[in-house]
This record gives sequence, structure tokens and C-alpha cells, in this order.
Amino acid sequence: MKGQQANTAADTAPIVRIRGLRKAFGDHVVLNGIDFEVMPSQVVVVIGPSGSGKSTFLRCCNGLEQAEGGRIDICGRTLVDGGRMLPDADLNALREEVGMVFQSFNLFPHLTVRDNVTLGPRKLRGLGRAEADAEADVLLRKVGLTHKAEAMPASLSGGQKQRVAIARALAMKPRVMLFDEPTSALDPELVGEVLQVMKLLASEGMTMMVVTHEMGFAKEVADVVVVMDGGGIIESGPPDVIFSQPTQARTREFLQAVLTRA
Ligand code: ADP
Ligand code: MG
Repeated sequence: MKGQQANTAADTAPIVRIRGLRKAFGDHVVLNGIDFEVMPSQVVVVIGPSGSGKSTFLRCCNGLEQAEGGRIDICGRTLVDGGRMLPDADLNALREEVGMVFQSFNLFPHLTVRDNVTLGPRKLRGLGRAEADAEADVLLRKVGLTHKAEAMPASLSGGQKQRVAIARALAMKPRVMLFDEPTSALDPELVGEVLQVMKLLASEGMTMMVVTHEMGFAKEVADVVVVMDGGGIIESGPPDVIFSQPTQARTREFLQAVLTRA
């Protein structure tokens, strides 16, 4: 949440703390020792060229990929430490606290919009249908889709699908939200409605890690911009600094390429 100061003792401890994170696929090293912290209510935007390890970094943060070296503490749990992962039961509990939104929306095609949102709370939080429906309707209002509650996913635009995916993630009451290129699959005219919802979440104090090429969003909403290249963080800082005075030549080249794309 841009410009917001931490003001309680709990707020002064990082909600995500990463030390020496390493990940390889076979002998291909994809993350080569990442150190990073996210404070509660911070919005971190991760940028960098394709293949630099951004998705793998996010996926390690909710246990979708297992890191083989280093340590991740997130939402009060040690997710991985020296290659040892949380046991499955704790991993499932952690995934409820760390929501993730992907480029491809991954909605359940056979369920209505409302049932997509209520499935997790009913199965995993033990809510009854009435309570889950009531919570879902609040979330669907938040993402501007009250009128689509009974619709099937196939009838929605990409922007609407992604807003349902965000509502579905929020239904688990996560403490951190991870977004991996949430607008990259959308037609350009639909990008804004998804970014608008993300801005609303940021303004409400949600802690967010967002991989995106939307530099306008990063400038407006990010507290910290992280630049990845070759499996590492090559620099990080406030958006005005990263965008106007990057220290690394590779950051300048990347920004130039993104900002001048056709
Ligand atoms: P980015 O999101 O920045 O484009 P990724 O994290 O997707 O980068 O990928 C980083 C590198 O890891 C790439 O070279 C990619 O080919 C490789 N990679 C990613 N996932 C896998 C996988 N499941 N198996 C093998 N290699 C992978
Ligand atoms: Mg990626």
C-alpha cells in the first residue's frame, strides 16, 4: 500500500522472508540464491525478461515448486528450509493463506461463477452453502460481477474470468496474494478492469507480489519493484528510482524493450 507506514509491532515483521533461495530443474539453475523480504501491506512488483525465473520465484513462495536450497518463511510458517518442505497438511493450510492468480484463469468450467468462488470455502473452510454464498456475493460485488453470479465461465470475457479468479482466491481469506502475469492473456481493452481490482486490494492493505509487464500499474501501486535476470534479483527499489535511475544496464535494456514494444 503505497506511502503507508507500518504502525504496529506486528507490522514491523516481514510477512515473507526469503534467504538464499535456490531452485534448479535438473542441472539448469533457475533461482541462484534469492534474498528478499515483504512487509505486511506491501505491494511488490517483479519484472524481468522471459525466463529470468519470475514464475518459479512466485511458485516457490506457495509451495507449488520445491526449492532445494535456502529458506522461505511466510505467514508465520517455515515453508521450506534446506530442501525440507512443510508436511502436506501444513502446506495445504499455508496455501489457504497465500492466494495465487495465474495468467490462465483456471476456473472450473462446469461450475457457475458463484460456485467457483464458494468451492474452496465449502471444502476447505467448512462453510455451509448459505454462508459461503453470502461471502461469495460480497466478493463478486467487490470485483464488479454481481450480475454474473449465475453465469458459466465460458460466457465471460477474459477480464471477467480473471476477476472471478481473484474473487475465488480472496474467498480463502489469504494474507498474501501472488499474481503471475494476471493480465498477459487479456485483450488490451480488458486489462484495465483487472488492474482496477488489484489496485482496490492494494488500497485495502493486501500484501501482494505481482509479476507483470504493466509498468503504469507498477509506477502507481508498487512500494518496491524487483528486477530479476538470470535467476537472481539484480536490483530493487521504489518505482521512481527503478524506472528513472536504474543502476543496472540490464534493467535499462529491459525497460527500454518493454516501454517501446509495439
Ligand atoms: P519467467 O517467469 O521469468 O519467464 P520461469 O520461472 O517460468 O521464468 O522460468 C525460468 C527458467 O526455468 C526458464 O529457463 C524455464 O525454461 C525453466 N523452467 C521453468 N519451469 C520448468 C520446469 N517445470 N521444468 C524445467 N524447466 C523449467
Ligand atoms: Mg513467467
